[in-house]
Amino acid sequence: MGPRDSLSRPLKALRVSVTDRCNFRCPYCMPRENFGEGFRFLDRKEILSFEEILRLVRIFAGLGVEKVRLTGGEPLLRKDLPQLVARLKQVEGLREITLTTNGSLLTGLALPLKQAGLDRLTVSLDSMDPDRFRASTDATVGLDQVLDGLESASTAGFKGIKLNCVLRRGVNEADILPLAAFARDKGHTLRFIEFMDVGTRNGWCLESVVPAAEVAALIARQWPIQRFWKPGPNCVAQHWQYLDGAGELGLIASVTEPFCSGCDRARLSADGALYTCLFAAEGMDLKAFMRGGASDGDLAALLEARWKRRDDRYSELRSAQTAGLPRAEMFHLGG
Ligand code: SAM
Ligand code: SF4
Ligand code: SF4
Repeated sequence: MGPRDSLSRPLKALRVSVTDRCNFRCPYCMPRENFGEGFRFLDRKEILSFEEILRLVRIFAGLGVEKVRLTGGEPLLRKDLPQLVARLKQVEGLREITLTTNGSLLTGLALPLKQAGLDRLTVSLDSMDPDRFRASTDATVGLDQVLDGLESASTAGFKGIKLNCVLRRGVNEADILPLAAFARDKGHTLRFIEFMDVGTRNGWCLESVVPAAEVAALIARQWPIQRFWKPGPNCVAQHWQYLDGAGELGLIASVTEPFCSGCDRARLSADGALYTCLFAAEGMDLKAFMRGGASDGDLAALLEARWKRRDDRYSELRSAQTAGLPRAEMFHLGG
């Protein structure tokens, strides 16, 4: 039995950021005015090597982690990523390796990732309209390239691909129904994520959040849906299904209906710090311990003690008091 935190939550899932760099500048994550030419990203030597990631993942698996999600920045920018996936697949105790990507580099990488054993794929897609897509990513990459990437992923054999859409009031609400129609048509599972106040530079305010309940009501008018409970480990998404049999829909109501009581995730940043909450200001520098000569036993003891002390439940406490608190940026934590 792995450790439980101070609110009795187990440690089951680990998100591993493999790079802090990204080829997009989504304004809600890495706004260009803050992450432009002059921004200093991590140096090569500051980033965990594959060996270091694997070592930590083995230790996490020994403490109960069953699912690893690779993320970033944009994880597909990390050289030789399929090799990391193949090696993660060998780690005892892991049931699932998944990846979240902006999809722009999937055309060349979907097949190697599938062959390496990647279990599932989530692609972020905020708009089906080329102009709004450009505005929501602030990238030179066009919508077509992401749609091509999705096709490549389906052709490579990925099933049950998830699409993540972050909704912002007055920005992409018009995309709710077109995205749902696209996902229904292609057999993907669309998930709408409430815009969150991660980091301190994305101009978040409560008014910019489109509540999940509003999204459900809008979709239900077009295609009747019903909520259902999925068995399995703690889950952050509300599951809905289309009554006409066209599959599932997920709503992630992190702001309006927080789910901290079921949060069993730890996060490892690209430079090897452990974060126990998406809204934490600081992580624990595991890389320093590792490079300082800590043994696997030392690291396991350190992680276990840290998890047992964990009392984070930021989203449940979100209020005027939490608004100005310092916290790490999303591209650093990997979502
Ligand atoms: N670059 C990859 C991507 O975009 O899929 C992986 C990293 S990205 C940080 C992971 C997820 O976080 C994406 O689905 C993104 O839309 C979401 N995200 C980023 N900033 C967010 C915010 N402020 N609120 C809610 N979701 C956010
Ligand atoms: Fe890059 Fe993903 Fe952040 Fe967009 S959400 S800037 S694609 S890391
Ligand atoms: Fe987990 Fe922190 Fe999000 Fe709550 S606010 S669900 S504890 S990451």
